[in-house]
Amino acid sequence: MATMYYEDDADLSLIQSKKVAVLGYGSQGHAHALSLRDSGVDVRVGLAEGSSSRAKAEGEGLRVATPARACEEAEVIMVLVPDHVQRHLYAEAIEPHLTAGKALFFSHGFNIRFGYIKPPEDVDVCMVAPKGPGHLVRREYVDGRGVPVLVAVEQDASGQAKELALSYAAAIGGLRAGGIETTFTEETETDLFGEQAVLCGGVSELVMKGFEVMTEAGYQPEIAYFEVLHELKLIVDLMYEGGIAKQRWSVSDTAEYGDYVSGPRVVDDRVKENMQAVLEDVRNGAFAQRFIDDQDSGAPEFKRLRAQGAQHPIEAVGKDLRGMMAWVKSHADSDYVEGS
Ligand code: NAD
Ligand code: MG
Ligand code: MG
Ligand code: MG
Ligand code: MG
Repeated sequence: MATMYYEDDADLSLIQSKKVAVLGYGSQGHAHALSLRDSGVDVRVGLAEGSSSRAKAEGEGLRVATPARACEEAEVIMVLVPDHVQRHLYAEAIEPHLTAGKALFFSHGFNIRFGYIKPPEDVDVCMVAPKGPGHLVRREYVDGRGVPVLVAVEQDASGQAKELALSYAAAIGGLRAGGIETTFTEETETDLFGEQAVLCGGVSELVMKGFEVMTEAGYQPEIAYFEVLHELKLIVDLMYEGGIAKQRWSVSDTAEYGDYVSGPRVVDDRVKENMQAVLEDVRNGAFAQRFIDDQDSGAPEFKRLRAQGAQHPIEAVGKDLRGMMAWVKSHADSDYVEGS
């Protein structure tokens, strides 16, 4: 059984007694910085001089400094810039100020697990990784709830690394929902596998293929869109509330029977073998190296695939249909712009 932690297991005063730097102000960065501040923590946001995020953070009343200055001041440094940027920021701004006794925090173990960042032995290296998108992490905190977090310690130089990580996790609301103890290796490998095989890669591909099969068979694209994309949220909400069983309880017996007889025909044992191959590429570092190599050369593959994805016919149909459903829109806290 996993070791779980809740608010009673953490001492909030520990993180309240530290100067904390949050580097980056994106999805996770804004959530951590604002919730730490609201939990009474002395926080500064580290952003480059020309960063467009500076105005946003300052607009929320947060103090902004350059990443180097923030690292110099802080005893706890949380790295929330994109994974492929982290080792560059580490060399430029973090490493020179990562003196003995400080703590280096991450929300994903990528750079530690694959060796792109090698911190000195005399600092704590911890992870507090919310299991949800940053905008939800903040929204839940504000609403008095939280998103579950993974907590891990890679290096315990102070002898207090776990207590410090739990204190941080409490300050962003994570321990209201629960913290699960893990390792950098387990978090990194399962996070990459989960997003590639199921959450992002698997689901997107399943939706697009289902849409293609229906429209190629002559059905109206609008009907195909509702069937495989719009309704997906309703199904996933039921799973979230009560597991697969609640979803099967709520749908018709016809749908439930179809689930049993046709699900395994679509996602068969070959799909499982493909998933195992994806997991192998995560574990042996092949995926990480391909991602980093592409980013280092200006991300040509990433940009090509993103542009190609945006061209899929389901996106144009969906944009029109969502325009007619005024209630289906981004939350006010999201700066997502459709089609950007
Ligand atoms: P993001 O892409 O939303 O934001 C990154 C921020 O970093 C930007 O807003 C900017 O302020 C800064 N930044 C971007 N490029 C930079 C550069 N070249 N130099 C310096 N600063 C730069 O990032 P994110 O999705 O919040 O991811 C941050 C970390 O959190 C990653 O390790 C990621 O794996 C992890 N994580 C993210 C989520 C999520 O909800 N997105 C969930 C769990 C863990
Ligand atoms: Mg994840
Ligand atoms: Mg991830
Ligand atoms: Mg139906
Ligand atoms: Mg039923």
